[in-house]
Amino acid sequence: MAEDTIFGKIARGEIPADIVYEDDDVVAFRDLHPQAPTHVLVIPRKPIPTLNHAVVEDAALIGRLFLAAAKVAEQLGFAEDGYRTVINCNADGGQTVFHLHVHLLGGRPLQWPPG
Ligand code: 5GP
Repeated sequence: MAEDTIFGKIARGEIPADIVYEDDDVVAFRDLHPQAPTHVLVIPRKPIPTLNHAVVEDAALIGRLFLAAAKVAEQLGFAEDGYRTVINCNADGGQTVFHLHVHLLGGRPLQWPPG
């Protein structure tokens, strides 16, 4: 089994988070240290450590992460203005929590490239 993380505990309801969306497969909650006016993390309930660990059987689940992000952007009112979705992978990608997650950033114009 994948190593347990803080996001696994949030997915199981063992520690609190500001949840903005959840269904059978996916949980979305506000980042503790937001990098934009709205910064939400969208995670699968299934503990996949990094994108490198995803297998073809996870393809639909990964699609659902992005569909959930779009739904949250709509719910929170910035879908039309726009937003960014990001997956960080391992050290060079800046990943610090090893439970796959999509960052959803919105609420202001975002710089590109991110640096
Ligand atoms: P990563 O760097 O792995 O792509 O992103 C991890 C994100 O998780 C960071 O943006 C960090 O602020 C956020 N984070 C870390 N611990 C917690 C926590 O306990 N609760 C919440 N809501 N966010 C967290």
